[in-house]
Amino acid sequence: MEEAAYELVLEAGNKGLLQSDLWKKLGVNSREGSRIAVKLEKRGLARRAKELYKGRWTYRLYPNKEEETPITWNTLNNCPCFTCVQITRCGTSQPISPIKCKKITNWINKQIVDF
Ligand code: SF4
Repeated sequence: MEEAAYELVLEAGNKGLLQSDLWKKLGVNSREGSRIAVKLEKRGLARRAKELYKGRWTYRLYPNKEEETPITWNTLNNCPCFTCVQITRCGTSQPISPIKCKKITNWINKQIVDF
């Protein structure tokens, strides 16, 4: 259901989607629609902006712009894999694995903090 909601928010683009329209399009009640909208916001997929619509306060949902930002080469600056001597032996089913690698874990964590 959240995926369908996210698709609708993406389709709405910059004009946004009223939360009440989201409920109707999904075929759910207002409580369920609110729960889904809040979840999209918490996951960073959408932002909710309070809006007075036909005399009542509601929210309009917009796709989170950061989610639409394309990945660039700068995203990979200082990635330890590019200079790692283990790269040819590293893989998810290998003894050396990105899943267990402290260097890549630390680098990813730093990217998240710096973001
Ligand atoms: S995940 Fe770790 S071990 Fe694997 S290539 Fe990258 S830095 Fe090297």
